[in-house]
Amino acid sequence: MMKDSAVPPGSSKHLSPEVSGDEVAANRSCANQDMSKFYITTPIYYVNARPHIGHAYTTIACDAIARRQRQLGVDTFFLTGTDEHGQKIERAAQAAGIPPQQLTDEVSAAFQGLWKRMGITNDDYIRTTEPRHKSGVQELFRQLRDKGYIYKDSYEGQYCVFDEMYVDVVGASAPCPECGRPTETLKEENYFFKLSAFQDKLLAYYAEHPEFIRPETRRNEVISFVKSGLRDLSISRSTLQWGIPVPGDPSHVIYVWFDALANYITALGYGSSSASGDTSRYDKYWPADVHMVGKEIVRFHCVYWPATLMAAGLPLPKSIVAHGWLLFEESKMSKSRGNIVRAETILDVLGSDALRYFLLREIVFGQDGSFSFDALVQRYNADLANGLGNLASRTLTMITRYCGGVIPSPSAPTDAEKAIAEQALVLIAEYDRLFDDYQFSRALEAAWSLVGSVDKYIVTNAPWTLGEKTDEASRVRLGTVLYTSAEALRLVTALSHVVIPDSTTRIWSQLGLGDIRKLRVNKLTWAQLQPGTALGKIEPVFPRADKTAIERMHQMEEERRSPAPAEAAAVAPAAPVMAPPAAPVAGDAKITIDDFAKIELRVGLVKVAERVKGADKLLRLEVDIGTEVRQILAGIAEAYDPEPLVGRKVVIVANLAPRKLRGLESNGMIVAASLEGGKPVLAGFLEDVSVGARLK
Ligand SMILES: [Zn+2]
Repeated sequence: MMKDSAVPPGSSKHLSPEVSGDEVAANRSCANQDMSKFYITTPIYYVNARPHIGHAYTTIACDAIARRQRQLGVDTFFLTGTDEHGQKIERAAQAAGIPPQQLTDEVSAAFQGLWKRMGITNDDYIRTTEPRHKSGVQELFRQLRDKGYIYKDSYEGQYCVFDEMYVDVVGASAPCPECGRPTETLKEENYFFKLSAFQDKLLAYYAEHPEFIRPETRRNEVISFVKSGLRDLSISRSTLQWGIPVPGDPSHVIYVWFDALANYITALGYGSSSASGDTSRYDKYWPADVHMVGKEIVRFHCVYWPATLMAAGLPLPKSIVAHGWLLFEESKMSKSRGNIVRAETILDVLGSDALRYFLLREIVFGQDGSFSFDALVQRYNADLANGLGNLASRTLTMITRYCGGVIPSPSAPTDAEKAIAEQALVLIAEYDRLFDDYQFSRALEAAWSLVGSVDKYIVTNAPWTLGEKTDEASRVRLGTVLYTSAEALRLVTALSHVVIPDSTTRIWSQLGLGDIRKLRVNKLTWAQLQPGTALGKIEPVFPRADKTAIERMHQMEEERRSPAPAEAAAVAPAAPVMAPPAAPVAGDAKITIDDFAKIELRVGLVKVAERVKGADKLLRLEVDIGTEVRQILAGIAEAYDPEPLVGRKVVIVANLAPRKLRGLESNGMIVAASLEGGKPVLAGFLEDVSVGARLK
């Protein structure tokens, strides 16, 4: 059902799909949520295209929400599936010379395979070509006909095959107002659904249930569309065979949208009228708590679907939540633009958690968001490799080294520990509220701000220094610092599990806490980590991605798009660029190896970078050199913006005597090439190096 937006026959009003989204309406949590169960659905994906990261985005969001509900102990049912009927499929199969069922089997298998690989936890997968769905749709059709909401009439109009609907234009092959493709004149006897009878009922329902359509922009669009007048909707076709036959009139098949929307109830067993039919799932989980949809299919879900349910006398879903579009480097992904990105590429190079984290952290849910490989790798390195990954490996390695691999006991907290504990408690409450309000990005931001605070806390309290001392006070202090770090790590791991399930499963077991799937977060609080817990086997969780990762992903996408990879390979690689050698130092003043050894060069990681007020050339940096974080002032502001430097590895002279510049103390020096008349260029590494490593 993920298709371009469409209009019902006779309608002259179009909603612009370009209207930008607001942040999903804040301050409106699921007030009427029945806490004993939770049912969430993705749209069922149309099998005219193979899965790409746009599909993955919707599915990941639903998966995170479903996992969160289960973590809260709520009986959760999560449904996804594929929409497999309609003219487009029939024609695509004809063009490929295969039966439509074969086409849908192949594409549906591709979706199911991807979800499995991404660890999506759907409880069921519905295909609209399954018998259980067909019988449910026919039952729904019968119900509406018996209640007088379906009648037969003849209709002539312009039909858009691409959008699978009649459009309001005049003239043979007039262009479709939705997609611009030429339309076809069709005259058929059709079954019509009395949508016009529901205009006032729908408006009254929207008014009484402000939480029904989210975010606010979509709700307003829907209301103005309904106010403009609803006409009856043609819900059958006699011009194609690839669909579900109208009960009692097999010369017609049921309109693909009517067919598709019903999946939300047929998957639960609605319409299993036979003696063997089981409707216990329907009785338990319907109505749905959340139908997650792309903004282009809002009208189908917020107008036609509730009207259908009202006509059948069935309860309405509690909310329909629309997200924005995922753009690739600022433009909409589409087959014709050739800029569709496949999830598999990212899974191959960075893993599923990298994609999941990026999409939920980077995009404000409800708004359009942009995807690029550069942004993905940057986010991955900053937040996962250097953020959570570094916190885990630092903390667990030191507990192994200094505490025999057992969680130490904390002693009386100082202000520093109290501050961390307080931030953690605020985070637990905030995360709950933000996540339930679909503000995934802000929820993750809050969790990662705790990661940042603990990082600073570790640097300030230097457990590696305490660990080298043998006096009792240092031992006691060491235990407190490492306990605090490990407890914060545990909380961030617990909260972010629903977003990054693979890596948090591993960190959890490295913390010695067993199976994270058993974790219930209802009672999550500070200081639940038991001293004496033996750590599991310590392994790195997020290996840092180097620059070749971006190139590799671009290349993989190129190869997948290119019809003849051999041609692409024939393009000669560019010649390596050789820089002219720099002029050697004048004279023959040579130094001995001992002279060189006096200079302590170390690898540092830039944690903070900012401009210095009143000094055009200076940047103030905070550089982590493994054992500590140094403030260093560097005269590189004309060549480098501060923001992109954060997360970058640099070479520093670590044993330079401190000096003051503009009233700020500089502890060390950043190594850069200084080009005659040009800007400085920072020294760096092609391979990954660990922070604090010495150059010699
Ligand atoms: Zn069209």
